[in-house]
Amino acid sequence: MSYQGSGKTPYQGDGRVFGEFRCTKCSRKWMSGNSWANMGQECQSCKVNVYPYKQTPLEKKTSDQDKCDLQKAHLSSLCEKCKILGYNCRSDYH
Ligand SMILES: [Zn+2]
Ligand SMILES: [Zn+2]
Repeated sequence: MSYQGSGKTPYQGDGRVFGEFRCTKCSRKWMSGNSWANMGQECQSCKVNVYPYKQTPLEKKTSDQDKCDLQKAHLSSLCEKCKILGYNCRSDYH
């Protein structure tokens, strides 16, 4: 049962969104304000790429979503988007 062709993530737009991740191997959960369409992040323990099971738009600048991510540095080495860009996707503001 494949899920709509290239759609690896619930969100399919161009912007950065808030993503919630859950590793299928160790069940570790994490959240990131740097989530992108069809981009995953690696589980720190298992080193496997995990796609977000839930993504929500980053609309409100004062939301808890962004605070949550700002408190800890964005882990570029675990982020598929950063690897593709070659720099921290967090710094890619427009
Ligand atoms: Zn894991
Ligand atoms: Zn990134």
